[in-house]
Amino acid sequence: MGIPTRLVILGKQGAGKGTQAIRLSQHYEVPRISTGDMFRMFVKERDSEIGRRAKKYMEAGDLVPDEVVNEMVRERLTELDAADHGFVMEGFPRNVAQAEALDAMLDPHPVDLVIELDVPTGVVLKRLAGRRVCSVCGLNYSVDAPPQVDWTCDACGGAVVQREDDTEVVISRRLHQYDEQTAPLVAWYLATDRLAAVDGEGEPDTVTGRLLRAIENRLARR
Ligand code: AMP
Repeated sequence: MGIPTRLVILGKQGAGKGTQAIRLSQHYEVPRISTGDMFRMFVKERDSEIGRRAKKYMEAGDLVPDEVVNEMVRERLTELDAADHGFVMEGFPRNVAQAEALDAMLDPHPVDLVIELDVPTGVVLKRLAGRRVCSVCGLNYSVDAPPQVDWTCDACGGAVVQREDDTEVVISRRLHQYDEQTAPLVAWYLATDRLAAVDGEGEPDTVTGRLLRAIENRLARR
């Protein structure tokens, strides 16, 4: 277990949050908390109350109501004792109300750093069109960088598929949600000196290097 490191990654759909969150969670040996992955798991489970409540919002590209998301994250944090051991969180918070709820959940151990992974909209649109994802572990692939064997995940053997909400109409709705609801969080975290913007364009390894530098700078000030 590494030193407690509490990180949040913000960024548009397709900015690389999932890929980078997996790498950072491995580097710091802390769990990754992805609300999108958690919802997708609950939707797959039969008889899941959370899945039943989330499904229609996800299909439309809308945000699941705050009370459902907040409760799910609160339970996960309790389960992990994440305040002591750290985490990399991705896909949450998505609006200021969720950010306030997260601060309350973590009190007295606030987030160390919120990273905005910055990628222009034209680039994310291109990435999303070619994105494929492991339906079991969430690892990302693309039509240009597929898994080695027949669309089964290199890491876990799960089926690698296109996400149901990666269609043109739903993508444009999700990006609109990001601009309206999530982008204001950048200013909100900046105001409390918890934000670092990191350029998310380029090869995944290059972006990981930038992220690690930004995080180490912050941890050195802790
Ligand atoms: P993602 O994989 O992060 O793009 O999330 C997929 C979908 O799950 C989103 O389009 C929302 O419908 C839902 N979702 C994930 N995280 C949240 C959140 N923090 N607040 C509300 N809805 C969420």
